[in-house]
Amino acid sequence: MELLIKNTKIVLKKGDITEEDTEAIVNAANSSLMGGGGVDGAIHSKGGPEIKEECKRIRETLYPEGLPTGKAVVTTGGKLKAIYVIHTVGPICSSGKLTEKKRKLLKDAYFNSLKLAEDKGIKSISFPSISTGAYRCPLEESAKVALETVIQFAREGTNIREIRFILFTEESYNIYENLLRKPNNEL
Ligand code: ADP
Repeated sequence: MELLIKNTKIVLKKGDITEEDTEAIVNAANSSLMGGGGVDGAIHSKGGPEIKEECKRIRETLYPEGLPTGKAVVTTGGKLKAIYVIHTVGPICSSGKLTEKKRKLLKDAYFNSLKLAEDKGIKSISFPSISTGAYRCPLEESAKVALETVIQFAREGTNIREIRFILFTEESYNIYENLLRKPNNEL
């Protein structure tokens, strides 16, 4: 499914984010930036060691304590089709609840990834559904935050021409689609 907001196409797609050919793909990383499971593991294993080498340099220089939740950094895409990987860290919902504080951090993760892409002149970007796997945030509420943030960013005007959500499961695709189908994007 697709939706045009100003000059930006918002696309929902079922699939594996490591296969995407947008200029950038976003990694749902953890603050160590040293890899993990889910999206993170798939990106590092398909993208090759170059990505981790850059992550190590970022840790040594900018973020010795780790990348704080809600912030974003960029590395090469290594062997992936995408030229860049934007690494961001979503909140952990250990209780399974998206509290106000966590909602804000999840919004920051999407917004700061978009801002970084915009500042780098990136024209197309793919997102996974951040924090809804190992980090256990509720899917529908997190999807709302994701879509609201991206729609607001596009409405305010951006040079990014395409923003994709790559949904790995049927369930997550259906939830995102139902939300995006609401009239006037009243999420
Ligand atoms: P987090 O730690 O932020 O929760 P995960 O990678 O565990 O990140 O999961 C985030 C979401 O990404 C989940 O909805 C999961 O189903 C999905 N996912 C897992 N692997 C992939 C993949 N290769 N491409 C796209 N989405 C993926």
